[in-house]
Amino acid sequence: MSIERYRFKVGTFECMAVSDGTLTYRPPMFPPPAPFLFSNAPKERLVQKLREHNIQPEQWAEWISPYICLVINADKHRVLVDTGAGSLAPTTGRLTSNLKAEGIAPEDIDTVILTHGHPDHIGGNVDREGKLAFPKARFVMWKDEWDFWTSEQAEQRLDEHVRARQIAFARKNLPPIQDRLDLVDHETEIVPGIRAVAAPGHTPGHMALAISSAGEQLLCIADAWLHPIHMEHPDWCAARDFAPQQVVTTRRRLLNRAAVEKALVLAFHFPFPGLGHVIQKGEGWQWQPIEAIG
Ligand SMILES: [Zn+2]
Repeated sequence: MSIERYRFKVGTFECMAVSDGTLTYRPPMFPPPAPFLFSNAPKERLVQKLREHNIQPEQWAEWISPYICLVINADKHRVLVDTGAGSLAPTTGRLTSNLKAEGIAPEDIDTVILTHGHPDHIGGNVDREGKLAFPKARFVMWKDEWDFWTSEQAEQRLDEHVRARQIAFARKNLPPIQDRLDLVDHETEIVPGIRAVAAPGHTPGHMALAISSAGEQLLCIADAWLHPIHMEHPDWCAARDFAPQQVVTTRRRLLNRAAVEKALVLAFHFPFPGLGHVIQKGEGWQWQPIEAIG
């Protein structure tokens, strides 16, 4: 089985998790994984928790994160969620070749939904020549997110360590979609069966999606949490989380919803294919990945 493409169904919708590649997060470009992913976690509890997850804290030098996009055949619409990181690294930008391998041409995508404006989610909006990678698609983004990246706000409010790269990606990948963009500011239906779910915090207008068909549901949580340990400790935030308080509220709401509604969940940064279920456990929740690849 391919480890870059994974087909599954949500009701009558045919879906596919598609890898855009991976990125290795390590110094000097990024902080070490523990402070990067769990910036406010009490040290001793974090060490204990990492060991429970078979991670040796003293040896944890890098975090290799998958980037997982989603294609949904939603009756009349063929929808892509996030465009990956494009040229961010030699190991990214695999989305379009993976789509081609499954017989999907860029022109076949009629709707691209961008969960937020970080480089790994918008970096494939344009190709290496700066041309639109999905030439027939309309784009959908949360209004606050678009406003943040296309105004002075990003410049003023982002941490200096990330500002230059993130703004460069936004300037390259957002203006070209401006004429074919629909902004949403409430939890509306984007195409029949796919609803926007407000999930602010990781970024100002970060958006999750609820995909429903024939009584089944997929929650695409994007970057509401980045690691399974965030589900067990929703109050442990990542260094890149823009508004940590809001992240905790958003996480709790989505985790509770996923558990209560027994939704399938897609997490963009989890081990491929990033699919699983959320189980309530004590005060927190736990990840139960599907048995996709044996
Ligand atoms: Zn991300």
